[in-house]
Parts: sequence; C-alpha cells; structure tokens
Amino acid sequence: MNEPCESPNGRLDWLKSRLQQAGHKATHQRLEVFREVIQTDAHPDAETVFLGVRERIPTISRNTVYQTLQFLVDQGYIAPFGIHQASHRYDRNTMPHHHLVCVCCGKVSDCTQSGLNLSHFAGFENWGRIDALHLELRGICSDCLSKQEIASS
Ligand SMILES: [Zn+2]
Ligand SMILES: [Zn+2]
Repeated sequence: MNEPCESPNGRLDWLKSRLQQAGHKATHQRLEVFREVIQTDAHPDAETVFLGVRERIPTISRNTVYQTLQFLVDQGYIAPFGIHQASHRYDRNTMPHHHLVCVCCGKVSDCTQSGLNLSHFAGFENWGRIDALHLELRGICSDCLSKQEIASS
C-alpha cells in the first residue's frame, strides 16, 4: 500500500482511490468522517468526530459516523487506540508509534522510538501472545506547565 501523503486533500484523494480499488464506494459521508480524523493530531474519540462531521453534514446520524469509523479501522485507513471500542480514539497515524499523554488536559501526541523491542521487557513470557508494542508516556504538556507557572507566580 502506498503511504498517504501529508496534506488533508492529498490524503482524501488517496482514500478515494484506495476505496475504489477495493471496490468500496467513496461516499461523501466516508470522506467527511475520514477528513475529521486526519485534519487533527488530537486523536479524537467517536463523539468528537460525530460532532465535527455534523457541522458539515447536519443530517448525519451518530450511528452512521460510528459505523463509518469502524469501517475505516477495518480497512486499515485509520488506527484505533484504546482497549474497548466504546472508548476508542482514532489516530490518523497508522504506522507503529507511541503516545505522549498530558494528565492535565488529556492531550495525546505522537512520539517515536527506535531500537526498543520485546527483549527490553520481562515477565510476559508465559502471558500469551504479544501483538503490538505501544507505550504511553505520561506527564504534563508545555501548555499546561506554562499555565501552572502563571498561576503560581
Ligand atoms: Zn496539557
Ligand atoms: Zn498517535
């Protein structure tokens, strides 16, 4: 699969041609749901995607948006993140990566590492099958840090 290019319009064209190649319809609703996920690095949840798409398509139902998100995940165009589907957030970045999570404002940002693999971990050998390695680095983002500094000065 070719990697999507970075600009939102380029990625929409990419999705359109991928859908058509796969024999799926490139419907307006599918494209708008995809647009809502890829236009931000905020890793939005389904409800946030629904509210955003509804601004452009007032008649769209919550159910349609949720089903479309699941379709886009099943096809590998976006990545889910979170364990339970009800609390999934959606990630435009489908390459392996890790997340920085602000415990103050909940902001989620991407980060990468190189050279980390299962040999750096212990205690999982008899647990079962490992399918993915995803780290969450928690802390306080620079926006929240500067607000705290203002509040305490
Ligand atoms: Zn923050
Ligand atoms: Zn991410």
